[in-house]
Amino acid sequence: MRPIVTEAALRGTLNLMPAPAIACSSHDKEEDRAMIIVMQTGSTQADIQAVLDRLKEYDLQGHLTVGAERTVVAVVGATIPPTLREEMEHFRGVKETVRITQPYKLVSREVRPHDTIVDVRGVKIGGGSVVVIAGPCSVESEEQIMESARVVRAAGATMLRGGAFKPRSSPYTFRGLGELGLKLLAQARDATGLPVVTEVMTPGDVDLVARYADVFQIGARNMQNYQLLEEVGRTNLPVLLKRGLSATIEEWLLSAEYVIAQGNPNVILCERGIRTFETATRNTMDLNAVAVAKRRTHLPVIADPSHGTGKWYLVAPLALASIAAGADGVILEVHPDPDRAKSDGGQSLNPENFAALMPRIAAVAEAVGRGR
Ligand code: PEP
Ligand code: MN
Repeated sequence: MRPIVTEAALRGTLNLMPAPAIACSSHDKEEDRAMIIVMQTGSTQADIQAVLDRLKEYDLQGHLTVGAERTVVAVVGATIPPTLREEMEHFRGVKETVRITQPYKLVSREVRPHDTIVDVRGVKIGGGSVVVIAGPCSVESEEQIMESARVVRAAGATMLRGGAFKPRSSPYTFRGLGELGLKLLAQARDATGLPVVTEVMTPGDVDLVARYADVFQIGARNMQNYQLLEEVGRTNLPVLLKRGLSATIEEWLLSAEYVIAQGNPNVILCERGIRTFETATRNTMDLNAVAVAKRRTHLPVIADPSHGTGKWYLVAPLALASIAAGADGVILEVHPDPDRAKSDGGQSLNPENFAALMPRIAAVAEAVGRGR
């Protein structure tokens, strides 16, 4: 269910993030800023409404989640009165109230025990299936993106990736085709039917990217760009949120909270490797994070072994391992001619290797009880 966020609740959520001057951490005092009200099985619509109405009198918004097993009302805000929990427990139809102890709230499994399924033009991410998003690091030309889309579609990919705005470590390298790249992606989608995922780097580009893309990608370098997170949170386009290069899992989930707190529940988390002391690989693929995120949140989690390893020949084993670890899918860089790629060629699969990997992904998915 789409959370409804009032200004008051939102102010409360934002207050979880103190002003940057002294304390930038989310670990300042976390008293009753969030709780869930668990309704009894058999509670009526009127019981739920009475709870919501009472919260409103306190200027608090209840986020209602009706699940197969239980119905809960989540309350997030800096102004939860200390006596509210006890008061709510006396309401008809209320089973119990539980404090949400983690700093992230709306993304937590405590609030919503069942998996969120993000629907991208009919492609369902989360909830047991395994998706494969594939395509080049960057959109380079019409020929290159059309050929990429064709080969990944032929091998069974469910979505197309490709960057039009590229965050590059060096300002002297290829930084993407900009709007032309977006147009070419839309053309590739029209030709193949594959929905497209592409990065948006600044709040000012959100409207432009939304005109062409089906999913916003928030890159690792922008995971803590809170204005960008809020801007995509004000749209209803799904958001693929990459984990920052040195972000903790908690920081990553708090970034997802920023998006959802603005009213956009369609967040897909993406583990893409973190920076460690290890130099044998570009990044260290943290499969712990996949399993931890799956346990702590209801959001779909996918893995990016291309950036996670930085080496094309390590992509297959880590893609398979990601699925086995519980990822809801993978995002893979595939280029028709990796040796001539304008970015990330060394970690891009060629069409043959990608096609060879696809049945192996399906086999692992099946072995761990998930379909494609
Ligand atoms: C990418 O997907 O090409 C990319 C730049 O990813 P990341 O933000 O994870 O580095
Ligand atoms: Mn890349």
